[in-house]
Amino acid sequence: MTKITRADFEKYEMGIYVPAPILPVSGKGSRFYDDAGRDYIDFAGGIAVNVMGHCHPEIVKALTEQANKLWHISNYLCTEPAIKLAKYLVENTFADKVFFANSGGEANEASLKLARRYAYEKFGSEKSQIISFQNSFHGRTLFDVTVGGQAKYREGFGPLPGDIVHLEFNNLEALKETISDKTCAVILEPIQGEGGIIPATKEFLTAVRELCNKHNALLIYDEVQTGFGRTGYLYAYQMYGVEPDILTSAKGLGAGIPIAAMMARDEVAKTFKPGVHGTTFGANPLATAVGCRSFELVNTPETLNGVKEKELKFKANYAALNNKYHCFKDIRGVGLLIGADLKDEYADKLKEITAECLNQGVFVITAGHSVIRNAPALNITDEEIAEGFARLDKVLAKFFG
Ligand SMILES: *Cc1c(COP(=O)(O)O)cnc(C)c1O
Repeated sequence: MTKITRADFEKYEMGIYVPAPILPVSGKGSRFYDDAGRDYIDFAGGIAVNVMGHCHPEIVKALTEQANKLWHISNYLCTEPAIKLAKYLVENTFADKVFFANSGGEANEASLKLARRYAYEKFGSEKSQIISFQNSFHGRTLFDVTVGGQAKYREGFGPLPGDIVHLEFNNLEALKETISDKTCAVILEPIQGEGGIIPATKEFLTAVRELCNKHNALLIYDEVQTGFGRTGYLYAYQMYGVEPDILTSAKGLGAGIPIAAMMARDEVAKTFKPGVHGTTFGANPLATAVGCRSFELVNTPETLNGVKEKELKFKANYAALNNKYHCFKDIRGVGLLIGADLKDEYADKLKEITAECLNQGVFVITAGHSVIRNAPALNITDEEIAEGFARLDKVLAKFFG
């Protein structure tokens, strides 16, 4: 067989992505390496996924140990790693019950189905309205893109699921005007990720909770990106002190293995009786065993406090770069979900800048249309942070020096 190269991508894979012109082959900590042996500092963390960096020895161990025991058995049977991970999640959150899926989009699809079914059984079929927010992102199933607040992701896929409205994020008046006893659920990201790293205000979340209570609407938090230690809290809602009825978690949960969880309070979870929903791969022992080890490493004071310290380092480094190059209008975010928002006059350079970052050996991603997004491993080291920013400095010097 001939050697696979980067150029084979276009030949064999669908053109849904436009991957950068390198071919990564291995990784360790917050560095990865391409097939030419060049190293890159990873400030993207596989889009907030690789919470413990690349190939963390403890996670490799959990994966290989489980790989030698039992990979998959189907949900006709239950397994110890899945029960254990569900127990961890229940014992450390508002939730009483967990459903496992394979991706964030699937977990959100399940949460929306759960909310609709709950309202249908308890209040009747009239209570079906779902309130969502502009610029939100909830995944790529048809229900998810319809609920998500970015029209471009649902264009041309109709007919779409109905009774879904999109309001301005953090706008309490708009919500007050729209929510009613026909509202079945309000879904939001406590910090909008793809939309540009936009945190909900505490006042907004508190008021959303009160309005949901008043109208018997369920509050769903999509914590696919903000969850699992990303903010320095196990889940971002714990920072706000405002609990949801349903919460979805994915990305970091498996530290790189595809897994997602949808959690709920008992009263809501009871709606998911046998046969109402399901999945072949969800809860499989390989993914949940990795999830367990990932949980044990993330949910420690060392990791979570470390995130808060590293947040300060990232923000200080960006502030120093901005003093030098005056290219950002805002540097924001919580924990290790940090956006550096380019000034309006530079927003059209975003793609060029991130491409040059990779050239200089630091991998960042984007959010919204003007934000450099950082979502590195929660255990990224001081040395990796310093080296990443030294490389970023060279990039910004090229554009703004
Ligand atoms: C990434 C993301 C999703 C989609 O997750 P997939 O695993 O890609 O299906 C949903 N919601 C939010 C907030 C996300 O960041």
